[in-house]
Amino acid sequence: MLRLVAISDTHTHHQQLKVPDGDVFAHLGDYSKEGTAAETKSFLEWMSALPHKHKLLVVGNHDRKSFFNFTEPMLDCSYFEQYPGISFLIHSGLTIEGVRFYGCASMRMSKANPIRYGNPISEAPQTDVLLTHNAPKGILDQIVVESEFGMGVQNIGDQEVADFVRKNPPKVHVFGHIHAQHGYTKIGGTQFWNVAACDDKNILVHGCVEIDIPVVQETERSSNEEKESRSPNSSA
Ligand SMILES: [Zn+2]
Repeated sequence: MLRLVAISDTHTHHQQLKVPDGDVFAHLGDYSKEGTAAETKSFLEWMSALPHKHKLLVVGNHDRKSFFNFTEPMLDCSYFEQYPGISFLIHSGLTIEGVRFYGCASMRMSKANPIRYGNPISEAPQTDVLLTHNAPKGILDQIVVESEFGMGVQNIGDQEVADFVRKNPPKVHVFGHIHAQHGYTKIGGTQFWNVAACDDKNILVHGCVEIDIPVVQETERSSNEEKESRSPNSSA
C-alpha cells in the first residue's frame, strides 16, 4: 500500500496542521488567501520541510496569481526551483511505485469570468490518482444558496472535470474547493475525496486525509493491459 496524505484549502493556516506520516503528501490548492508572494513563500517553505518522500502540489484559484499571468504579481518561475522536493502539477504527472498520479490545475476563473487558466483537463491522460482543485460537477460539490424561493442547494463543481472522470475513471480522485463538502464517496470503481480543510468562513476545521492506495507491480499492469487489448475477435 502507498499512503497518500492529502489536504486542500488551508488558506494560510498550514502552520496549525499536524501532518501524519505517509509516502506521498498532496496539497490540492488554495494554500493562500490572496495568492501573494509572501503567502506562497510561507507555504512552500513549510511544505518543502515535510518529511514525505513525494510532495505534490496542484494550485487553486486563490493561488493562481503566483502561477498564471492573469493578475499581478506573478512570480518568476525560477522561484519554484528553490523547492526541488515539490512536484508542481500544473498539467503533469508522475508514477510512484507503479501508481500513476496526474495533477491538473485548470479552472475557470469564475462563473462571471469563464476564462480558463491552464490546459483543459480533457488533454490529461488516463491515470490512477487524479488530483484537481475543483470538484467534478455533481460530486461533493454542493453549496447552500438563498433565493426568492428560499434555501436550496446548487452543484458548483466543474463540468469538464466530471466529463473527464466519467470517460477516464481513475481509482481515486482527490480535490477540494467546495469547503462545505469535505468527505468521501465511491461511485463505480472510483473513490472521490473532497479534502477541503477550511469551512465557509476560512476557519480550519479538518486535518489531513489519509488514503491507502494499492501499489501496482509493473508486471501486473502490463498483463492487465495485454488482457484489455485482446479483443474477442482478435486472432491472437
Ligand atoms: Zn478554498
